[in-house]
Amino acid sequence: MVDPYHDISFEERMSHVDFRVSGKPHIAVDTEVCRSCTTRACVTACPANLFVPTDDGGILFNYEQCFECGTCYQVCDESGAITWEYPAGGHGVVFRKG
Ligand code: SF4
Ligand code: SF4
Repeated sequence: MVDPYHDISFEERMSHVDFRVSGKPHIAVDTEVCRSCTTRACVTACPANLFVPTDDGGILFNYEQCFECGTCYQVCDESGAITWEYPAGGHGVVFRKG
């Protein structure tokens, strides 16, 4: 099957993305749990680069440009570090083409 998006650049793909940000985070990260994490798997796995390690050993997280792919939740093996739910109706990422 031919990929209909094969010739579309990353920048053009992103131009079709809207983030309808809710005031209520749909992902919560317990940064106290993160402090004892040795893998920091979320930092490299998140395609939107929303997990940022800090100099003091912490993690900063921003939910506002989340693609809702679930990767961080899958790769994190520290119990209780990530609490996930989908955004409330009408909020979150929207992909549109055409
Ligand atoms: S979210 Fe999970 S993988 Fe990422 S730093 Fe925290 S405990 Fe580690
Ligand atoms: S759901 Fe995907 S885009 Fe959102 S924070 Fe997790 S890895 Fe990043």
